[in-house]
Amino acid sequence: MKFNTKTIHGGQQLEETTGAVMPPVFFTSTFAQSSPGVHKGYAYARGTNPTRTALESSFAAIENGTNGFAFSSGMAAIDCVLRLLKPGDEVIAGDDLYGGTYRMFTQLFEQYGLKFTYVDMDVVENVTTAITEKTKLVWLETPTNPLMKIADIKAISSTVKQIHSTILIAVDNTFATPYLQQPLNLGADIVMHSATKYLGGHSDLVMGALMVKDQNLAKEIHFIQFAAGAIAGPMDSFLALRGIKTLHLRMQRHCENGMAVAKFLENHSKVGEVFYPGLENHPNYKIAKKQMKDFGGMVSFKLKSATKAATFRFLENTKLFTLAESLGGVESLVNHPVTMSHASIPVQERLKIGITDSLIRLSVGIEDIDDLLADLEQALNA
Ligand SMILES: *Cc1c(COP(=O)(O)O)cnc(C)c1O
Repeated sequence: MKFNTKTIHGGQQLEETTGAVMPPVFFTSTFAQSSPGVHKGYAYARGTNPTRTALESSFAAIENGTNGFAFSSGMAAIDCVLRLLKPGDEVIAGDDLYGGTYRMFTQLFEQYGLKFTYVDMDVVENVTTAITEKTKLVWLETPTNPLMKIADIKAISSTVKQIHSTILIAVDNTFATPYLQQPLNLGADIVMHSATKYLGGHSDLVMGALMVKDQNLAKEIHFIQFAAGAIAGPMDSFLALRGIKTLHLRMQRHCENGMAVAKFLENHSKVGEVFYPGLENHPNYKIAKKQMKDFGGMVSFKLKSATKAATFRFLENTKLFTLAESLGGVESLVNHPVTMSHASIPVQERLKIGITDSLIRLSVGIEDIDDLLADLEQALNA
């Protein structure tokens, strides 16, 4: 199946008793057994629920994996990956991570003896020189949030595996989605998503996903998911499955609108730097063009007048772009990373990588582009 068919049919079956095209929402915590231990594959809903199973099969299909796992949030999915490690193990991560990921690494897992090293992942050598005997995981996000840097997944995976074939490569694919890039095909072992964002696509749920292509890894992850219990519920699973069916259509429009917004901002007299991997002057444009099918719907920028007052004036005056956390829904959102998504990153760390007070992040939705550009224009002139 091609990708645009997989989003609709990948891993899906008609419901057996009625032929329902969409799986029922199985609101049940438990399943009858005919004799102790004898059941129809479902025993207790923390372990498996048929609605969640349908979604997890879709997750596996769209990322070209063998197994998918649905969690109660993106953070719960990341938490599960870290539980694969033991005290003393080391993780190499990108230096421009989602704020919550950085918070989890530093404030939750360091105390259990995991060590994290942060490197600029757009240079492959930065990753390889950070590898030690204890390195067990490389965690990468590409494009990064909020600066839209691109890491070469294939080059990093193959170089790292040459040094130690057992080091796991995990990719947070939330920003790109499998429509734009499929990390398992590029050598990664684990793909992670905040399905809250583009996979769900309608800002109506919070969910995380993991996808893998190795049976042993799948067994370990299923064990942690079951034992720790941060599962996605049946209603959310249904909503996410419905969202995925239009992922390819939505992403196509997100990309078209994202590019149009990036070009508009780049040519605007009041705008300074624009961060969008589809612009030819983006430092990682070549890797982005090679690795991604298109460039996505996330655009960050700074105003020329880089004062906090001017930045806040813009943020308070957009009308179609709602000032809110999150991204990846059909509606356009605007975010101020310093006070919102990235508030948990210490000031010195933020400034080191360029997350300044004047940075603004847009999640460009799938509305009519004329209305979106008109909204940006009026807010820039407010
Ligand atoms: C939102 C987000 C997360 C966290 O996911 P939740 O669903 O909010 O728990 C992780 N990584 C990235 C890139 C995100 O945007």
